[in-house]
Amino acid sequence: MMYDCIIIGGGIAGLQASIQLGRYRHKVLVVDKGRGRSTLCQGYRNMLGWPDGVSGPELRRLGRLHAERLGIEFREAEATAVARIADGHFQVMLDAGQGAVSGATLLIATGVSDRYPDLPGLEGCLGRTIFVCSDCDGYESAGRRTVVLGSGVAGYGMATALTYWCDRIVYVNHERQALGSERLSRLKELGIEYIEEEIAEVLTGPEEAERIGPAAAASPFAGQASAGAVASAAASPSAWQAPAGAAASAAAVGGRLSGVRLTSGRVIPADIGFIAFGGNAVHSGLLAHLGVERMENGHIVVDPRSKMTSVRGIWAAGDIAVHSQQATIAMGEGAQAAIWIHKELLKLRPGRSAASGEALLR
Ligand SMILES: Cc1cc2nc3c(=O)[nH]c(=O)nc-3n(C[C@H](O)[C@H](O)[C@H](O)COP(=O)(O)OP(=O)(O)OC[C@H]3O[C@@H](n4cnc5c(N)ncnc54)[C@H](O)[C@@H]3O)c2cc1C
Repeated sequence: MMYDCIIIGGGIAGLQASIQLGRYRHKVLVVDKGRGRSTLCQGYRNMLGWPDGVSGPELRRLGRLHAERLGIEFREAEATAVARIADGHFQVMLDAGQGAVSGATLLIATGVSDRYPDLPGLEGCLGRTIFVCSDCDGYESAGRRTVVLGSGVAGYGMATALTYWCDRIVYVNHERQALGSERLSRLKELGIEYIEEEIAEVLTGPEEAERIGPAAAASPFAGQASAGAVASAAASPSAWQAPAGAAASAAAVGGRLSGVRLTSGRVIPADIGFIAFGGNAVHSGLLAHLGVERMENGHIVVDPRSKMTSVRGIWAAGDIAVHSQQATIAMGEGAQAAIWIHKELLKLRPGRSAASGEALLR
C-alpha cells in the first residue's frame, strides 16, 4: 500500500495535519508511539475554545476520533528509520516486527521531550500544578508560592522570567550547575530565593474540591466547559486562588503540588512549580541522514510559508520545528504543512483533480 502521506507523530501537530489531509481525501497513515508532550500535559489553558482548559490526552482523543471519521489510519508503533526509495517516495520502518510502510510524502511531527529527573510525584502534576513554559502558564503563578525545579542557567532563566507574574519564587538548582556571581546577584536583586540542593520528592496535597481553585462561579465561562474539559470547581478561600479574573483553573483535579522535599529533609512549600533542566531531546534524528537541515540543537528548519524542510517531499510541524513550542502553534503548523503537502500531491498526481489543482498550485 502506498500512502499519499505518512505522518510520524500523532500529537497535536500530527493530528491537526491528518484532519486537514483527510478533508482533501488523501490516503494518510499516522504512526505514533504514544508518549509525547501532549500525553503528559494534563491541562492546556491558553487555547481558544477551552477557557477552563483541556488535557492533552483528551485533545488527542478528540483529534483521533475526528481524523478517523475522515478515513485516516493509525498505527501504534515507533518509526525507527526512514529511507528514500524509487520515484522519490519514502519508506518508514516500524518497530516490534511491524514491517515498513511507504508514502509519497512525509510529515515529521515527533516533537520534543523535556528532560527532568525521575522524582516521585512529579509526572502526576505536569500541566496541573507543575509546568514547563512561562509563556503558557506563567499566568497561573500570579500571587502563588512558586518553586522552580531546575538546573543551572535553564532554571535561572525560568525563575527570572516568572518575576513578571510572581514575587514569591524559590529556585532549587537540583543539579547544582554553577551560575556565576553575576547571576547569583541578579537573583538576589529580584528577591528570588536560591537553593543549591538535590530534590528528593515532589509533595502533593489533598485532592479535589479542597484544593480546587478559583472562581468557577465568578468566571464568565462558568458551566460552559465542553464535555471532556478538565473539571472546574467552586470558589475556595485557600491559597489556591487564581489571579483576579482568571477562568476556573484546569489545574483543579489531582496532581496538586504542595511543595518539594530536599535531600536534607527540608521542605519548600509551593502551590505552583516549573521545571527547567535544559537539554531537552529533539526527536529529529530519524531524518539526519536524508540531509534535512537542522539547527545545532536538533530543531528542523522549515520554509516559513509551506513548512517543507530543506528536502523536497518532507515536511515538519510542531515542537520539532523552530518555533515557540506551544500546542496552538503546533496545530497551526500541522494545518499549514497539510495544505502544502496537498499542493505537492496534486503535482505528483495531476490527473486526480486537475482543475482545482491548477488553481491551488499558483
Ligand atoms: C507539562 C506541559 C505543559 C504544557 N503546557 C502547555 C500549555 O499550557 N499551552 C501550550 O500551548 N502548550 C503547552 N505545552 C506544550 C505542548 O504540549 C506542545 O507544544 C505540543 O504538545 C507540541 O505538539 P507536537 O505534536 O509537536 O508534539 P507532541 O505533542 O509531543 O507529540 C509528538 C508525538 O510524536 C510521537 N513520536 C515521537 N517520536 C516518534 C517515533 N519515532 N515514531 C512514532 N511516534 C513518535 C510521540 O509519541 C508523540 O505522540 C506543555 C507541555 C508540557 C510537557
